[in-house]
Amino acid sequence: MATDCLMCGKAFNGTGSSAHIADVLLFPLCCDCHVQSDQDPQSVLRKYPRLFDKRRSTTISTSMPTFVSDTPRHVIVTDVHMPFGSMVTLMVKWALASIPAMLMLAITGCLAWWLTLAVLSGTFSGIVKTIFQ
Ligand SMILES: [Zn+2]
Repeated sequence: MATDCLMCGKAFNGTGSSAHIADVLLFPLCCDCHVQSDQDPQSVLRKYPRLFDKRRSTTISTSMPTFVSDTPRHVIVTDVHMPFGSMVTLMVKWALASIPAMLMLAITGCLAWWLTLAVLSGTFSGIVKTIFQ
């Protein structure tokens, strides 16, 4: 399978290699461009400014809403493409994982109710005792 190099546009075989220059991941690169970006990243910056301009602007303006760039930990999921089998596996795992969670909630609820009932019954028995002394 032939791939086009991101830098020189030359078609080459294989998956290609990647280079990280000025916070931009360049992929795929042919062997020559990979060597060049490894040895002299500054010359790549000067020779191919379009790569860095384009990457920057698309990262900020289109692929990411502005409020997300302020808080990079927020992720907005708009759609999930997932094979049916993986989704079934995920849902089964989810259902199984919900069992201990349900147990914890049930135990917590039982304790809370037990405490509430104990306090209430204690209070009422105290009131009843005071009235019918
Ligand atoms: Zn190349």
